[in-house]
Amino acid sequence: MTTLIDGTTTALRIRARVAEKVAHSVRIHKRAPGLATILVGDDPASAVYVAAKRQAIREAGMRDVHHTLPAEASYPAVAALIDQLADDPDVCGILLQLPLPKGLDSAALIDRIPVTKDVDGLTTASAGLLARGADGLRPCTPAGVLWLLDAEGVELRGAHAVVVGHSELVGRPMARMLLQRDATVTVAHKHTVNLPSITRLADVLVVAAGVCGLIGAEHVKPGAAVVDVGIHRTDHGLRGDVRSRELQGHAGLLTPVPGGVGPMTIAMLLANTLVAFEQGQP
Ligand code: NAD
Repeated sequence: MTTLIDGTTTALRIRARVAEKVAHSVRIHKRAPGLATILVGDDPASAVYVAAKRQAIREAGMRDVHHTLPAEASYPAVAALIDQLADDPDVCGILLQLPLPKGLDSAALIDRIPVTKDVDGLTTASAGLLARGADGLRPCTPAGVLWLLDAEGVELRGAHAVVVGHSELVGRPMARMLLQRDATVTVAHKHTVNLPSITRLADVLVVAAGVCGLIGAEHVKPGAAVVDVGIHRTDHGLRGDVRSRELQGHAGLLTPVPGGVGPMTIAMLLANTLVAFEQGQP
C-alpha cells in the first residue's frame, strides 16, 4: 500500500493557523505583518506565481506590499527598491521573484535583503546559518518537504536520505536541512553515475531534478518515502519528476503532483513571514 501525502490539506491548515495568529496580532498590537513582493519584467510564469503569493498574503490578513518594475529596470533601480523596503519598519519580509531578466545579477540583488527579512531563505547569510545548523529563515520549498515528512511521522534521524538535484533553491538547502535532522544524506545530480544504484539506497528520496518522469520503480527501494518536488506542465496536466503510477504499491509514501509539495511552498512563505514579524516585534 502506498500512502499519498496530501500537501493541499496540510498547507491549508498551516495557512489557517498563520491567519489566526495574524488576526491576534492585529487585535493586540494593531499591526499586521507586511510582506513585499517584487516582480521585475513580464515573464508570464513569474506573474502567475506572484499573483498566487499575493492572494495568499491577503487571505492570511497580512499587508500585501507589491512592486512591479519593467524588464529593462537597471540594477541600481532594483537595488534601491530593495534598500527602501529593507529600511521600511512596516515591511517584515521581502521576496524578489526569480528568475530576473537577463543582465541583472540575481545573487547580488538577493543579498541586499536583510537576513531578518529574508522570507525566501535565499540570501548567502541565510544559507550560511543553515550550513552551520543555526536558527534562521529556511527556503520555502525544502521547508515544506520537511514539514510533510514530519506530519507523516517519517523518522529522519539515522535514515538514509537521497536528494536528487543540487540547486541553491531546492536541492542544496534540502540536503543541509536533512543533515541537520541527523539523516545520512547523499546528494545526486546530473553528473551522478548510475543514479538508480544510489536512489535505491534511500529510505527517504527527495527528487528535485526538473526532469519530467525521471524517477520510476527501478530507482526506489520498496517502502521508501518519495517526495516529488518537480512540476511540469504537460498535455496531460501537471506532472512531476516521478512516474507516480509505477510507484503505486511500491513506495511507502508518495507526494502527488499536483497537491503535494507545491501548495506547501506558499504556506511556508507565510509561516516564515510570521516568524520574521514576531522576531521584529518590539
Ligand atoms: P534546477 O534546474 O535549478 O536544478 C536541477 C537540479 O537537478 C540540478 O542540480 C541538476 O544537476 C539536477 N539534475 C538535472 N538532471 C538530472 C538528472 N538527469 N539526474 C540527476 N540529477 C539531475 O531546478 P530547481 O529550481 O532545483 O527545481 C527542480 C524542480 O522542482 C523543477 O521541476 C521546478 O519546477 C520544481 N520546483 C518546484 C517547487 C514547488 O513549489 N513545488 C519549487 C521550486 C522548484
